[in-house]
Amino acid sequence: MGPARSDKGQWVRGWGLAAEEGVAAEAKAVKAGVGVAVEVSAAAVGAAGRKEKTSGRQTLQPKSSLVENQDALLAVRLAIASGKGGTGKTTIATNLAMRLAHHGQEVVYVDCDVEAPNGHLFLKPDEVREYPVNRLVPQVSQERCQHCGDCGRICRYNAILCLAERTLIYDELCHSCGGCVRVCPTRAITEIPHFVGVVRIGIAGKVQFVSGTLKVSEASSPPVIRAALQAMPPSDWVILDAPPGAACSVVETLRDCDYVLLVSEPTPFGLHDLQIALELAKTLAVPCGVVVNRAYSSMAELRELCGQAQVPVLGEIPDDLAIARAYSRGQRIIDVVPGLHRTFDHLLLRLLEELQPNVLPFRTRQDLEQAIYANDRMEATNLNEPGRLMAT
Ligand code: SF4
Ligand code: SF4
Repeated sequence: MGPARSDKGQWVRGWGLAAEEGVAAEAKAVKAGVGVAVEVSAAAVGAAGRKEKTSGRQTLQPKSSLVENQDALLAVRLAIASGKGGTGKTTIATNLAMRLAHHGQEVVYVDCDVEAPNGHLFLKPDEVREYPVNRLVPQVSQERCQHCGDCGRICRYNAILCLAERTLIYDELCHSCGGCVRVCPTRAITEIPHFVGVVRIGIAGKVQFVSGTLKVSEASSPPVIRAALQAMPPSDWVILDAPPGAACSVVETLRDCDYVLLVSEPTPFGLHDLQIALELAKTLAVPCGVVVNRAYSSMAELRELCGQAQVPVLGEIPDDLAIARAYSRGQRIIDVVPGLHRTFDHLLLRLLEELQPNVLPFRTRQDLEQAIYANDRMEATNLNEPGRLMAT
């Protein structure tokens, strides 16, 4: 796949899924200020189990810049994030996705933790297809270079070293902004694709699965995250399994989200990192709620922190050895720990209360609520006990 050109014939920014074995999936960069567009062929779309709504090529764009793809606009983008690793983000994200699918919702799970993706261990997707992700990096023609130093001066990332007789580019520092290409007076700089990782697309039961993996030794994960987000198919729900922390990879994932579920644990480290995550959500102006993992009865400090931040605690996953065992075996906890599926159903109902009315179509909201209550009634009838969800 070669670099894309704009209408004016200039090199423009963009990362995308490179074509492989005739599956046309090439990046078409769009300099829109809010991101890039990726065109994915209907063949690739169908292979991932997604809806084929158009003949020919579909254009998937970041939600904020998209006006024509109504499917993507209607989808709820829900990110599962935390201030630190190991809190249980993937556990919450994968089980929530499976529960949504169980209730008849169309759901796509996107593993944005591209430095250490592990969602596939729990979802076990089939029919996985893999696409390389490239970004554009500059290349200098030493013959054309006049050693004026303009490119080095404009690069904010110190990726260019202009010597008296040679101009050097450090690919690993380059952020592919294209500034050096524009300022070069002799057109000595061109851009070439640089492989940075892969995106995998598959299907896990009724859940559509997308995962990005950053190439070992690559320093910058946002290009792979962007490619994964652009590769996701239309759906009612998008569950984004965010990287840990509050760095640029997390910002890339949370940008354009409708809601963030912050996973925390009632420990001093958990509280400290929850504070950072709350600040990040506030800075990005994304509404958020908290799910407590490994919860026990007294969590006064955590509740106090959430109260001060005016952020609701939407659910609690108990501190249970059976859950730890299931996790270590790569099992989904709703499948093996009795009663936990109801905990996730309750979490979904709380989420519905929190989501802005314009985020989810009323019909979808109603369908999900009815499915959850119907499921609860059926189980309660089988067990001859009152439905727990109905009672709450
Ligand atoms: S593309 Fe941007 S970041 Fe990369 S070397 Fe050129 S100016 Fe620096
Ligand atoms: S801007 Fe162009 S001519 Fe000037 S140093 Fe850089 S590559 Fe050479």
